[in-house]
Amino acid sequence: MSVLRPISHLGSRHARGGSGKFLFLFIGLILGGAGGYYWAYTHPPVPAATPFAQPGAMPGAQPYAIPSPAPVHPMPAATSTVPAVPDGFRRLDIKIRGSLSASLSKEIDGREADVLNAHLGRLMVWWLNPRRDVLRDDRLWTMYQPADLPEDFLLMGVCYQSRKLGKKFYAYSFKADGAVYTRFYDRSGREVEARLRQQPLGRYEQITERMNLAGRRHKGVDFKTAVGTPVFAPFRSRVLRRNWSTRNNGNCLELLYLDSGIHAFFLHLDKILDVAQPGTIVEPGTVVAHAGNTGRSTAAHLHYELHSPSGKLLDPFLVNEIEHQKLVGNDLLKFKEQRDRLDKWLAPEESADGSSLPPSGSKAARGQGG
Ligand SMILES: [Zn+2]
Repeated sequence: MSVLRPISHLGSRHARGGSGKFLFLFIGLILGGAGGYYWAYTHPPVPAATPFAQPGAMPGAQPYAIPSPAPVHPMPAATSTVPAVPDGFRRLDIKIRGSLSASLSKEIDGREADVLNAHLGRLMVWWLNPRRDVLRDDRLWTMYQPADLPEDFLLMGVCYQSRKLGKKFYAYSFKADGAVYTRFYDRSGREVEARLRQQPLGRYEQITERMNLAGRRHKGVDFKTAVGTPVFAPFRSRVLRRNWSTRNNGNCLELLYLDSGIHAFFLHLDKILDVAQPGTIVEPGTVVAHAGNTGRSTAAHLHYELHSPSGKLLDPFLVNEIEHQKLVGNDLLKFKEQRDRLDKWLAPEESADGSSLPPSGSKAARGQGG
């Protein structure tokens, strides 16, 4: 089972037609001007596709602004409290039978199940061990926008009820004011993903692989980010070497963290800066390289890998300090509006109108006409 297969790998299996570029261009035109085009190109799915955009945030996006509350779904009485799914979106309410991947494949088309499985897995690694903790009769609610191209797929939110851990986990997509990327937050507005206090990248979209939690061996952490994003030395370091095994690693850099003796590998770099010469000492926060998509890599990301002084692989999230960012102020208010809208589909029992849960195991509800 490969719970956490990265989207980049899925994407490589599918032919990429020209239509995606036209879609990006179209979104770019809506947003207005070259800046909008650039934004849409680097982060295509988020703004135009979401029907949950904050009021007034996107003046040109009328066709996508699907209002809430949605009309009541014309279904049997037991499900009538769950509103209709907006056009182009899909909602699942399923019970786990076998793996997560197998459970999804019973409900939806295999390719869509693969993409959804990868997106869900990226969140679920922060809650449980997908290989051990996904049990029969666990329950999953999710809302998303399917897409022909994996990179256009948009996950709106998830609620996962774990029998083993005896609780429900929530993730809602939200883009904070001024943020570069949409991220996922729990009900209280706390980010689902942990962040390293001393991180190698200032900004990134998502951690797409965590070490060894993917059901396949993966030696490090993959940070999905744009080509050119500055890569820092997180700790005071000596530069050990650059550009070995470049066929796989692409442009790469090895640092020795002087306080801990930990060796850090940075792979698939676009460019290594002149400051990072072997033997040089660099201070924390020094930009040593730019993230890229070189070597065996199908999408821009930074592979960050740590080894103990004796050569043992280390999980950066276990050996280094971590934190979870929290939304505050106006962002938190807007987030709660978004959360409450999504709860109608993801968590009917928590939603503001007090409606009850739909019956378990109901089939995928499909937005009409999307
Ligand atoms: Zn990697």
